[in-house]
Amino acid sequence: MPPVVTRFAPSPTGRIHVGNIRTALMCWLYARRHQGRFLLRLDDTDAARSTEENVAAIRADLAWLGLLPDGELRQSERFDRYEAAFQALRGEGRVYPAYESEEELALKRKVALGRGLPPVYDRAALKLSDADSRRLEDRGVTPHWRFRLDHAAPVTWTDLVRGEQRFDPAKLSDPVVRRADGSWLYMLPSVIDDIETQVSHVVRGEDHVTNTALQLQMFEALGAPTPQFAHMALLVGSDGKLSKRLGATGADALREAGIEPQALLGLLARLGTSDPVEPVADIADLIPGFDFAKLGRAPARFDIAELEALNARTLHLLPFAAVADRLPAGIDARIWEAIRPNLKTLGEAADWWAVIEGPIDEPSFEAEDCTFLAAAADAAAQLDWAASPWQALTAALKQSTGRSGRALFLPLRRALTGRDHGPEMAALLPLIGQTRAIERLRAAS
Ligand code: GLU
Repeated sequence: MPPVVTRFAPSPTGRIHVGNIRTALMCWLYARRHQGRFLLRLDDTDAARSTEENVAAIRADLAWLGLLPDGELRQSERFDRYEAAFQALRGEGRVYPAYESEEELALKRKVALGRGLPPVYDRAALKLSDADSRRLEDRGVTPHWRFRLDHAAPVTWTDLVRGEQRFDPAKLSDPVVRRADGSWLYMLPSVIDDIETQVSHVVRGEDHVTNTALQLQMFEALGAPTPQFAHMALLVGSDGKLSKRLGATGADALREAGIEPQALLGLLARLGTSDPVEPVADIADLIPGFDFAKLGRAPARFDIAELEALNARTLHLLPFAAVADRLPAGIDARIWEAIRPNLKTLGEAADWWAVIEGPIDEPSFEAEDCTFLAAAADAAAQLDWAASPWQALTAALKQSTGRSGRALFLPLRRALTGRDHGPEMAALLPLIGQTRAIERLRAAS
């Protein structure tokens, strides 16, 4: 078996969104699972729409996600290779010039559809004589170039997700590989790159399945072995539709919304599989169980509410070391462990830090609670704070006041934190400390 090499091949015409993050993740997981290499290929043949800003953003997004490539290549730096392969194919008659304008092609498609036929290119250009071509070129018509498909046999492969695939090449148009202005379309450069970088597994969305049938013939025409293919079912929103919003949900927006990469990747690794969605503290934990065979063929539903819920569960397991550099100064491991069970996003840690440090909102109390809180302040002053002050305080007050349950706990929580809900008081009270606790209880009484 050749070594595993996968590549993630975004076009830097925009930011990467959840759909291509999932592709990147699958490429990364497969490479890591098989001690292979994971490459980033920037498909920037479209010079007008590709920007350096997007290139930088893609690299930054992958770094944030922890999906670090083992190598990178850019199509815009490889035109000489494409030219050489193109000339070789041209010499063999596998690419040919075609002169139809966009309008003519659109008309041909319309006519075919009107006759109930598939809108497949009729190969009229193949029937032109050299003299015909010269005449057109003399009139200033510059050709674009098509790859001539071999119609002799069906194209078949065993897709790692979709199983046996079979296409009749006669039912497909010879793909345009180069525009009249000499620029490249994605199709052929991708194959040339995959050959040169010895990509063993092409992992991408199922919108590329037909491209694979075409590209398999390009691999063969270039005398190269064919890689394996895994085409993932598309992602849809929770409404079952391929929503615009989902396509537009970029890594940057998710990051700003407080989503942890482990949560996003933990969800994307499991969507469309029968494995349960579980929080992971480290994305490496996703590697051992990864297998394309677990991916179903039905569209996978991406639900932002499910992501938010997983984000909270993920935070609850993250060790201090994993978040320390993003926490407000002053929060140490003990504080982190006390507050993390209450977090939905890491940003909320600052709120709890403020609750510990103060000043807090001072809620007002009924007279009866004020008396109770005055007793609490006295009791707090007597306690041994080295042990478990919350247990000791509540036990003492239970005995002296006869209060229990909500009547005992809620006024204390409100007086000590200014809030009705929050982390376990047993963990919080030692962090608030004796001096501040007594002050807050006195202020409330
Ligand atoms: N640039 C192509 C895309 O983003 C790459 C497809 C592929 O993985 O071959 O759709």
